[in-house]
Amino acid sequence: MRNLRDLTYNEICEEIKTLGERPYRAGQVYRWVFKRDVREIDSMTDLSKDLRQRLKERFYIGLPEVLEKRRSRDGTVKLLLGLEDGLTVECVLMHEDRRTTLCVSTQVGCAFGCTFCMTGRGGFLRNLTLSEMAGQVSRAGDLLEEKERITNVVLMGMGEPLANFKEVVRFIKILTDPDGMGFSKRKVTLSTAGIIPGIERLGRTVDIRLAVSLNATTEGVRSKLMPINRKYPLGELLSVLRRYPLKRGGRITFEYILIKGINDSLRDARRLAGLLRGIPSKINLIPFNPFPGSSFERPEEDRVVAFQDILREEGYTVVVRKSKGGDISAACGNLYARPLKALDRKVL
Ligand code: SF4
Repeated sequence: MRNLRDLTYNEICEEIKTLGERPYRAGQVYRWVFKRDVREIDSMTDLSKDLRQRLKERFYIGLPEVLEKRRSRDGTVKLLLGLEDGLTVECVLMHEDRRTTLCVSTQVGCAFGCTFCMTGRGGFLRNLTLSEMAGQVSRAGDLLEEKERITNVVLMGMGEPLANFKEVVRFIKILTDPDGMGFSKRKVTLSTAGIIPGIERLGRTVDIRLAVSLNATTEGVRSKLMPINRKYPLGELLSVLRRYPLKRGGRITFEYILIKGINDSLRDARRLAGLLRGIPSKINLIPFNPFPGSSFERPEEDRVVAFQDILREEGYTVVVRKSKGGDISAACGNLYARPLKALDRKVL
């Protein structure tokens, strides 16, 4: 039995053909699954009973189980989801002004070991499938009131999306397909630690927003914070980003986690301004969110403001990202998957 939510439109077409059905049936099934988000094949009411029965003999509609739901004082909600093989993954729903943003995970754990990130500490377990990523959107959507909806999706949760390229692209295509989940391409952002071949391939494959986790202004500091820099150094990364195919008015978002005494000097701010010169950019400054076992500290407020001011004076759009969900470990770099057996298994 296969999960229908793991199939793209073309794959559903193939299955419908095998069943000897007319091709337009594939579009119906696809829309029921991704656009209307039904949870049972029997809910596909414009299919004949016989076709539904034959679909049920081969397929099911499976979503991750909600194991834990934690709501922060600021309204941020973190979901802990149980996967079919017993692993778990987290996603975070945040509200800000008129935006409701879902931060989606793309892997269980992460192999990249960035020293400021709790996800990296647990190591890499496996890639997430299309249905497991789409399932995060559905489960988060279930939390909203009837008139509310998720406005933005960021692939910024657990894992490095470009290390799960094929499945992530399948997910993005359905996410941004008007007959699929229907998100505007401008409202979907993929964030990478800087996998150069993946960035180049992404630019040729899909047209969504790109964010790069930069976090340092010298090769030495970046290599200490992000071991991936030894393979794909900052200098090379920036030259690839200079050539990244952007739409008119498009910009690359640079995430910069400010860590006290490590990368938050005013010299760093000036150097950063110089490094990004010529790249249409938006800079997100994220004061470090401490987590147990980390020796890094968050900089003082006035240092954050001074860092931001220098970049602004240099003409950059700079936002200091308010930390969301800090009281429920939902802030940037704080996501962590626990093995299911370590949890009091309670399906919500
Ligand atoms: Fe992995 Fe991203 Fe964390 Fe680095 S910051 S360890 S790439 S999840």
